[in-house]
Amino acid sequence: MISVPSPAGPLTDRVSGPTEDEWAAAVAAIEAVPAGGRVLLLCHVNPDGDALGSMLGFGLGLCRLGGRQVQAAYPGGQQLPPALHGMPGAHLLVAPHEVWSDPDLVLCFDVASASRLGTLADRMSAPTSIVVDHHASNTRFGGIHLVDPGAAATSVVVQGLLDRLGVPLDVQIAECLYIALVTDTGSFRFEMTTPAVHELAARLLATGVAPAQIARRVFDSRPFGAVRLFGAVLQRSVLEPTAAGGRGLVWTYATLADLETYDQQPYVLEALIDSVRCTVEADVSCVLKQVAEATWAVSMRSKGGVDVSRVAVALGGGGHRLAAGFTGVGAAPDVIQAIRAELD
Ligand code: AMP
Ligand code: MN
Ligand code: MN
Repeated sequence: MISVPSPAGPLTDRVSGPTEDEWAAAVAAIEAVPAGGRVLLLCHVNPDGDALGSMLGFGLGLCRLGGRQVQAAYPGGQQLPPALHGMPGAHLLVAPHEVWSDPDLVLCFDVASASRLGTLADRMSAPTSIVVDHHASNTRFGGIHLVDPGAAATSVVVQGLLDRLGVPLDVQIAECLYIALVTDTGSFRFEMTTPAVHELAARLLATGVAPAQIARRVFDSRPFGAVRLFGAVLQRSVLEPTAAGGRGLVWTYATLADLETYDQQPYVLEALIDSVRCTVEADVSCVLKQVAEATWAVSMRSKGGVDVSRVAVALGGGGHRLAAGFTGVGAAPDVIQAIRAELD
């Protein structure tokens, strides 16, 4: 396995992006794939706009370079989530059981730790692997690391890599990268939205990407049943002003029974946290989404007073300072109690 030394120091102190050596190693590794060679692209389980947009945008770029075979995959499925239907490059997606066992090169996108690759984590043992990511909590589990904790989305790193490979942006690549950027920045509202982010967005839009169409598709489309489901779930929200050392916690939960009552699929719940986190009386917000009898996908957000990635990591998950998550086990009140305890 090719390995490039990374700057030393605790993960959380590493705020700079990839070194010139790391960029050069990544470009060399990609260019070294022989004609007809197999390049495998992976992203994290339950993929979001940044994971899929970064992976497929890069995949299309690699296809433009030509000469290599390209597969894209994530653990647990082969479909685009409904909110991302129409994303270019979806034809590159293969089911997990079809993924090559012996690729020449593997790149993974928006993956902070090998566990987020589930059943596909073993593919990282390919002769060369490149981790492309922007999580400060990245565990640097590959051979070459393009990790920029200062990047608003993994797609920002991808755009840098495509530039260095000499791949010109076209409207399809740009649509993938724009969806990644607009989802991870919360439509350019979150703290990592720098002037450079808007400059990258401008480059993407200049190719002909249609931002209004994308926004309607990705953020503003929901079945009527989901609108009513949100009503029921928001109605049972709990505000705890004294939690999180007095900064306040607001939380709610959605069960599998709720999904059945309103005849909805789990994906509709991804947007729920955005309605809960509006609560001005709480710095920290939290949504528990039931995935099995005693298992919950937990989403956490902070307005700035609390590092929720610390809480998520302590409870077995990960994420960013202001947006993090983990898998909670037990009854909902027990999961909330574990969060409360970590927050205090
Ligand atoms: P979400 O609340 O699902 O939108 O996730 C927010 C962020 O938390 C994501 O960008 C991930 O980085 C991280 N995250 C969510 N769930 C997990 C998990 N089970 N394990 C590790 N990181 C997670
Ligand atoms: Mn992600
Ligand atoms: Mn991301």
